[in-house]
Amino acid sequence: MSFSNLGLSPNVVSAVEAAGFETPTPIQANAIPIAVTGRDVLGIAQTGTGKTASFVLPMLTRLERGRARARMPRTLILEPTRELAAQVAEAFELLGKNHKLTVALLIGGVSYDEQDKKLDRGADVVIATPGRLLDHRERGKLLLNGIEILVVDEADRMLDMGFIPDIERVCKMLPFTRQTLFFSATMPPEIQRLADNFLHTPERIEVSPPATAASTIVQRLKKTSDAPAAKRQALRELMQEVDVKNAIIFCNRKKDVGVVYRSLHRHKFNVGALHGDMDQRQRMATLEAFRNGEIAFLVASDVAARGLDIPNVSHIFNYDVPVHPEDYVHRIGRTGRAGREGYAAMLVTPKDYKALKAIEAMLKEEITWLDGAIAPEEVAEAEAADRGNGRGRSRRGGRRGGQRTGRSRSEAKEAPASTSEPQNAAEGETAEPKRADDRRNDGRRGKRGQGKRAEGQQSAAQDRGKCNDAPRGKTQGGKSQGKTQGRTQGMGDHVPAFMMRPVRVP
Ligand code: ADP
Ligand code: MG
Repeated sequence: MSFSNLGLSPNVVSAVEAAGFETPTPIQANAIPIAVTGRDVLGIAQTGTGKTASFVLPMLTRLERGRARARMPRTLILEPTRELAAQVAEAFELLGKNHKLTVALLIGGVSYDEQDKKLDRGADVVIATPGRLLDHRERGKLLLNGIEILVVDEADRMLDMGFIPDIERVCKMLPFTRQTLFFSATMPPEIQRLADNFLHTPERIEVSPPATAASTIVQRLKKTSDAPAAKRQALRELMQEVDVKNAIIFCNRKKDVGVVYRSLHRHKFNVGALHGDMDQRQRMATLEAFRNGEIAFLVASDVAARGLDIPNVSHIFNYDVPVHPEDYVHRIGRTGRAGREGYAAMLVTPKDYKALKAIEAMLKEEITWLDGAIAPEEVAEAEAADRGNGRGRSRRGGRRGGQRTGRSRSEAKEAPASTSEPQNAAEGETAEPKRADDRRNDGRRGKRGQGKRAEGQQSAAQDRGKCNDAPRGKTQGGKSQGKTQGRTQGMGDHVPAFMMRPVRVP
């Protein structure tokens, strides 16, 4: 199998060869021949399987005919994060070197001027995060009725970040006759619904069962207590035990990214940090330093987890057990790429036991413990301690506001996904963004999307820039009842950024 018999134009094939790609990956081999014909594609393949080229190459081929007009881009690629958007732009540069295409990268955290100029000149390709795209459109800088091809990339990540309503809005603005290419590593029901609504008789291409870990990854568990100092000590042991070239260390909470980063720094590790609150320049600089080896260790939150193309990561360390089993797969998918052997180790406290079992159930295998598994008594003890604390209080002693504190654990667990809260975290007076501590406890599927909101919303809010405070779409949180004079009631000590935005009274 080679790139020359997938229906790609000679110009595209020669650029692919120059880029050093010899054989198409399975998703490329299956998606490209369909996509070049103009049909819709629903592509499901795990992280690191080459989904980017699966849409970039057929797009380049199809863009060879026709020209861009001012403010009317011909193709649109939606990405959940700025980093991913920037990476796709790089892929266009690499693979599109035989094409004189104008690529506009519309991401938050950078000025509008450059982006405006690109759009004015006429862009063949717009690569955007949903928030910034909608901003440009509202400013009248962008007409979406010339779009011939729409790509929704990393759709499951979009869901985590609360972008689904924005994507729905964008889809409705595009010509009905467009082609849609839709990619995701996993296919949760919300994503399936989106695909059902916006794709026309797509070819479904699934190259591996959803949410399976690459078989080239050695996975290990390490038992630890949940005292932060003990966890950090255990992390250092993990990092020293094995032959680590470079690694990403994943934390569930943004706050812990900072704590772990500072701790490792103190212990003389060559470390950087990456999370959703950093400004664009810092993030890019950190990623670049990690890519070129100046930084060996990167402490990151899940915002950094998906699709980031960081080659040669030798190790993944999970400081926390992720709440959603799919996130585990995405995290460890950063290692063991393109046939290389990877290594992923995770710290597990007795309180994490259930979340661990959910991961193992999804993987359909048990992960090996490095030195002794957690005993059932320890799990029982942790659960009893948890019950003693009561769900109404966070483990840090802060008070949770809101009225849902009386809800029992078993109730929470039994609630089926279909009764999940509205997508909008601020909807309804009793709704409140869950605190990270509590999220760890229930791990309900129905909470997916909302659980990640704390960080996702923040970067979404940043993405939108500060100049436009008109409420937009559902993710914006149309109501902010809890807010009084800069202080937000009922939020505990974490207030999502979108709740702090000024409210315009009509
Ligand atoms: P995904 O979006 O599925 O997570 P990417 O598109 O980011 O994966 O690709 C992962 C890595 O594999 C990138 O470094 C990319 O350059 C490389 N890659 C993609 N396709 C090929 C190929 N056919 N041959 C060799 N390397 C490839
Ligand atoms: Mg990708």
